[in-house]
Amino acid sequence: MACGGKERMKAGLESLIESGRVLTEPEELVTYAYDATEHRCLPEAVLRPVSEEEVVRIVRYAAEEGIAVTARGAGTSLSGCAVPCEGGIVIDMNLMGRIKAVDEANRLATVEPGVVYGRLNEELSSRGLFFPPDPGSGSVCTIGGMVSTNASGIRAVKYGTTRDYVQKLRVVTGSGEVVELGSLAPKSSNGYDLIGLFVGSEGTLGVVTEITLRLKKRPTSFAAASVSFGSMEEAGRAVGRIIARGLDPSVLELMDEATLRVVKLYQDIDVEGRAVLLMEMDGFTEEAVKERLEEAVRICTGTGAVEVKRASTESERTALWRARRAAFPSLARYRPTLVLEDVTVPISRLPEMLAEIERISGAHGIEIATFGHAGDGNLHPTMLVDSRNKAEMEQAKEAMDDLFRSALALGGTLTGEHGIGLSKKAYSRLEHGGAIEVMEQIKKVFDPKGIMNPGKGF
Ligand SMILES: Cc1cc2nc3c(=O)[nH]c(=O)nc-3n(C[C@H](O)[C@H](O)[C@H](O)COP(=O)(O)OP(=O)(O)OC[C@H]3O[C@@H](n4cnc5c(N)ncnc54)[C@H](O)[C@@H]3O)c2cc1C
Repeated sequence: MACGGKERMKAGLESLIESGRVLTEPEELVTYAYDATEHRCLPEAVLRPVSEEEVVRIVRYAAEEGIAVTARGAGTSLSGCAVPCEGGIVIDMNLMGRIKAVDEANRLATVEPGVVYGRLNEELSSRGLFFPPDPGSGSVCTIGGMVSTNASGIRAVKYGTTRDYVQKLRVVTGSGEVVELGSLAPKSSNGYDLIGLFVGSEGTLGVVTEITLRLKKRPTSFAAASVSFGSMEEAGRAVGRIIARGLDPSVLELMDEATLRVVKLYQDIDVEGRAVLLMEMDGFTEEAVKERLEEAVRICTGTGAVEVKRASTESERTALWRARRAAFPSLARYRPTLVLEDVTVPISRLPEMLAEIERISGAHGIEIATFGHAGDGNLHPTMLVDSRNKAEMEQAKEAMDDLFRSALALGGTLTGEHGIGLSKKAYSRLEHGGAIEVMEQIKKVFDPKGIMNPGKGF
């Protein structure tokens, strides 16, 4: 933007909110140019509103001026969806971080979008309640970001994704109108599911300014174990049988040999095998959860498990989850670049998907470490590469193409939780076909000027 234009824009923005919360200096903007992917793009300005009213003013100004707007939480997106790829304004939602109300009688919490997931659950724990999705980034990511990506995590196998917990939303559409979506009633047959449209829309329809979440009663009893298998396919088959038996695990995570090998370089963990399942049952009586765990263990033994380690104390259980949570950070330390995917397939097709990943790794000569939420069919095949090596990146791109096509051929989806953003945009049509045109029409209704996080999703 020319110098005069920049000055004019700055003056315009400073008329909307306090000037101290309008950032335009390059050294301030640079921290908003990225997320947890390789994508980078500098915004022209960052605005830090403290209220919905300020968000309305910003969006109306942007709509009048035709300026792109990207809402931002903690910037931990793994798809590039938080990167302002067309410059413009970033709306940093972190100052809107109030927990407005916790309604224990109806098990609801109303929060501003900048509330961090972990902080909300800390607040809820003394009341015996929790908001379950539990993404790996939960100590920093915001509820607004979770809603906009339909985030989930290791507990999705039992508790579902963010989508399952959004009771009500307040949003500012791309034309600056405030719309309230949903009600406080436990159920409703009235009208289109507009909350459903907003959840996972990656900020392309508007800015979420208030969220009312359904909560769950926090379980009091847990039983966990790690089970080693001779192959990923066997582990995949065991997952299918545990789910089909209706044992309702709260965690059913898979780690392959490559992931375990790398985690062990950095963590002292007592887990090994060609493939390891980490599982947990939760509930409200010790006997019942132990019984379910033992039945799952019997299924694993009957499916070729070679070793079972039960985590009977709280500290043993914590050690298990430490191993799993260390997967991503350990892989990130091991190679300069990770291409972390999150293809998701029907549970019954998991063994085939795991075999496909092995084939793809060999066929394209790319080291792939796989871990993930096997219990809901969501895998994280992670290509361990170096973005400075052009030939290797080209091979990784081909491997990714192969991976996406395999997942779709098995009836799956490109992304179980990270979203499409910039990273998978080129493949969106492959999954949605003609439904892309429907999505384009929907976007026009909420965002007629096309300013909301343009260039993302499709
Ligand atoms: C180490 C690590 C582990 C992770 N583990 C998981 C995991 O287990 N499961 C999982 O699902 N994800 C995971 N993620 C990805 C990411 O953390 C989640 O997608 C998270 O929900 C993003 O929240 P955020 O606050 O960082 O949002 P951001 O990254 O800032 O934004 C994400 C998207 O939401 C939009 N957005 C943000 N706030 C608003 C708002 N108020 N209104 C409208 N749009 C908005 C942005 O425009 C963007 O499109 C992980 C990331 C990292 C780095």
